[in-house]
Amino acid sequence: MLHALGLAEWHWATRHCPRCGGSLEPRAAGHELVCTGCGRPQFPRSDPAVIMLVAAGEPSSAEERCLLGRHPRWPEGRFSTLAGFCEPGETLEDAVRREVAEETGVVVGEVTYFGNQPWPMPSSLMLGFHGRALTEEIVLQDDDVEDARWFTRDEMRAQAEAGTLVLPGGVSISRSLVEHWYGGPLPGSW
Ligand SMILES: [Zn+2]
Repeated sequence: MLHALGLAEWHWATRHCPRCGGSLEPRAAGHELVCTGCGRPQFPRSDPAVIMLVAAGEPSSAEERCLLGRHPRWPEGRFSTLAGFCEPGETLEDAVRREVAEETGVVVGEVTYFGNQPWPMPSSLMLGFHGRALTEEIVLQDDDVEDARWFTRDEMRAQAEAGTLVLPGGVSISRSLVEHWYGGPLPGSW
């Protein structure tokens, strides 16, 4: 299903050859588009995006806390892991550190890979990471994040039960990152 959506989006968004502006014809059951002018083929692409759960404090201790942020247009109480696109020439680990610094001012040290999820709306591959914070002061400096907070596991559970913290949905990599860090299922979702 995601594959078909991704291909449909690619066909919709890719109308002309980027080299000569010629029109494109589908080949290989739509998995390739070939320019009728210069013959150059086009293939579907995925843009890498990073999504990360950043934690601070002694790992697995009661004081350990994780950083979640919220988008200005989200309903009240909704928080999620931070995310952003990887820039050209940037490693994924550097993209994690840059995005967290840009959105919250928090400095991230160690970054470890968690897992990935295709997100073809329009054409991203979400790469999930755990990051270890070196600083904890939050300085919001990006219009994409209107609020960011640290949550201990106890605070997360209590606020999720009360409905004042609404976490991402069950099939998202964001949910998986949060529950993996938390150590089990949490109540409530978008
Ligand atoms: Zn062409």
